Amino acid sequence: MQFIDLQSQRARLGTALEDAILRVVRSGQYILGPEVATLERQLEAFCGARHALTVANGTDALALALMAFGVKAGDAVLVPSFTFAATGEVVVWFGATPIFVDCLPDTFNIDPASIEAGIATAKRLGLRPIGVIPVDLFGLPADYDAIEAICAANAMWILADTAQGFGATYKGRRTGSIGRVAATSFFPAKPLGCYGDGGAIFFEDDALLEPLLSLRVHGQGVDRYDNVRIGMNGRMDTIQAAVLIEKLKIFPDEIAARNRIAERYSAALEKHVIVPRIPTGLTSVWAQYTIRVPDGRRDAVAAKLKEAGIPSAIYYVKPMHRQTAYSEYPVAANGLPVSDVLAGEVLSLPMHPYLSEADQDRIASTVRAALEAR
Ligand SMILES: *Cc1c(COP(=O)(O)O)cnc(C)c1O
Repeated sequence: MQFIDLQSQRARLGTALEDAILRVVRSGQYILGPEVATLERQLEAFCGARHALTVANGTDALALALMAFGVKAGDAVLVPSFTFAATGEVVVWFGATPIFVDCLPDTFNIDPASIEAGIATAKRLGLRPIGVIPVDLFGLPADYDAIEAICAANAMWILADTAQGFGATYKGRRTGSIGRVAATSFFPAKPLGCYGDGGAIFFEDDALLEPLLSLRVHGQGVDRYDNVRIGMNGRMDTIQAAVLIEKLKIFPDEIAARNRIAERYSAALEKHVIVPRIPTGLTSVWAQYTIRVPDGRRDAVAAKLKEAGIPSAIYYVKPMHRQTAYSEYPVAANGLPVSDVLAGEVLSLPMHPYLSEADQDRIASTVRAALEAR
């Protein structure tokens, strides 16, 4: 059994995907070929954002947004601690200070009250709190109504890290269309993944288009030999765009399958562990299906799954504020108790659109048996 099975999807797509790759190989247009712009227009239509720009990976997507915002030393950016390291890493690249914020115990997403505490911490340290990077963790959108209210009151921007949440919805809005800029990743294991690294940035503001296009190609100006700002090489390969065009066609159907599988998991497990809660009005794309196993029994459950040949994963063993490289950065208040508790309790189970009911039943019964074993 696989944690994320990409080969079943490949089989479903048949030769269409391989043909699309070969077309690019034969065309010779490996960088910014026509597939790149085609995909960008399709991504805009899919999520309802005015502008989509494809980029080399999700980390560059976040970094390009911070470059466009002009983030610099003395700025503080509020980041959830319970996330993948890229979310906070990019803040440090520009000399700004990440302030690690706690999350909510039921949705695993950034806690608005902790954002308020983090703003106070920034000011106490003599830093300018300028923005928040909420993460749509495990595929579920963060609490944007609350975050937008806090950011509006404090003149702060939102950079939505929807690397795991592309395709999810928040009260009728699709991720990608939320935040001053939204950044996503098409890493192969994300809900919409390519065959290598890839990512995208989304935004409404026309004024961001020229700077972001320029920053994506070394800060080039109208005259491509006169660079007008310091940028990076942040382009997506044409081959990856061709792969994504094929995969986007089946993505809505795959999201539906992920939701059916998540519902089956919850029905089978809700009496035994803490299953994920989806707030009213929100939908998840289930990048991960993550349960909480309290009372110090998580590792025993993971071991039993392993014995039965079932892969599982712990996202995240160490919240960012506990990691060596980030331990010196400030946290919102006196520690981040929820992030610390979750790190000891979370367990992600196999999740992909092609997980069979038989496999799923075996996973659920193994989890239940592991809990009854004591
Ligand atoms: C995967 C991920 C990223 C980074 O994406 P890459 O394409 O791997 O660079 C950023 N943030 C979160 C929350 C992620 O899960």
